[in-house]
Amino acid sequence: MTIEKKRNWKPATQLVHSGTQRSGFGETSEAIYLTQGYVYDTAEAAEARFKGEEPGFIYSRYANPTVDMFEKRMCALEGAEDARATASGMAAVTAAILCSLKAGDHIVAARALFGSCRWVVETLAPRYGIETTLVDGTKIENWERAVRPNTKLFFLESPTNPTLEVIDIEAVARLANSIGGRLVVDNVFATPLQQKPLTLGAHIVVYSATKHIDGQGRCLGGVILSDKKWIDENLHDYFRHTGPSLSPFNAWNLLKGLETLPVRVRQQTESAGRIANFLAERPELARVIYPGRSDHPQADVVRKQMLGGSTLICLDLKGGKKSAFAFQNALDVVLISNNLGDSKSLITHPATTTHKNLSDEARAELGIGPGTLRLSVGLEDADDLLEDIEQALKIAG
Ligand SMILES: *Cc1c(COP(=O)(O)O)cnc(C)c1O
Repeated sequence: MTIEKKRNWKPATQLVHSGTQRSGFGETSEAIYLTQGYVYDTAEAAEARFKGEEPGFIYSRYANPTVDMFEKRMCALEGAEDARATASGMAAVTAAILCSLKAGDHIVAARALFGSCRWVVETLAPRYGIETTLVDGTKIENWERAVRPNTKLFFLESPTNPTLEVIDIEAVARLANSIGGRLVVDNVFATPLQQKPLTLGAHIVVYSATKHIDGQGRCLGGVILSDKKWIDENLHDYFRHTGPSLSPFNAWNLLKGLETLPVRVRQQTESAGRIANFLAERPELARVIYPGRSDHPQADVVRKQMLGGSTLICLDLKGGKKSAFAFQNALDVVLISNNLGDSKSLITHPATTTHKNLSDEARAELGIGPGTLRLSVGLEDADDLLEDIEQALKIAG
């Protein structure tokens, strides 16, 4: 679907109003169009719509009014020309990667990826003759060295899961442009508010809307954003015929989530900054990684490309798995869960959960040790969180 004319609104205003299309009832809140199909007044009207001569909806696998509102609101926020919303973040990642590639093509991807994203490029794509090279994405030389004559796509997330490595998006985008390739950025950890990959030169941005965009632990969703030409030529047919479409009901949840996104992300980032500073002083920890502290390994890149810190913290307990488990079990306010971006603070032990399928070697390469934990800071009062964390650290030793 086409997008509304660009309005000069700031993000908070866009997130409340952009994309809204009211029905004849003039409802305040966006309507949920729980419909599979659409009715045509005449056979001629049906023919015209299928030919694309008249605007309108055809079938909800292709497009739906509630989903369309979500896509338009995301376009306004991201500064993208067009978007497709998907049933999950992984549906977005898979479609964004596979829709433009064919057997014989080559992907270069950062090795620090969300587990399922890594499976798509490392295991799934090669089954169809698409080769992948994984690199340590923090050094641009590694990307350059991995390029081959058939390299078509570059893929990264930044900050990464779970160790919050930050990759220079502008540098990788420049490399992609120099060989006529495309850069796909998974921007989940930064959120659309703290980092603007398209402005930094990336060609395609993907989100798991399951995370901060819903932000209240309710539903899965995803979105792919890019220029209209790329979507028309690569994603449009793939999307229609493979059917990763978002449910209108979930699109409505996500629209409501977007309305409060800036308030939530601001509060969660502020609390995370306080907690990271507190953790950095604690003797029980071997290290704290937080993109917002000057001791972050890529602090200069963070300053260059991120507009704020993160709602996530990576911490490493000196006592290894035993301490990490004792710490999690002693937490009262913070819940043990592998999700993130929720209004509830959540903690997970990547080595035994999200990253358990990697070899010990691959985990070590990513800096995931037995004492590593990933904390997603929620909307609870930061004082309660700090108190909870402090008492649990004392127990964990
Ligand atoms: C959660 C997540 C995904 C996958 O999203 P789903 O909505 O769970 O399918 C992809 N990338 C990153 C960085 C994520 O955090």
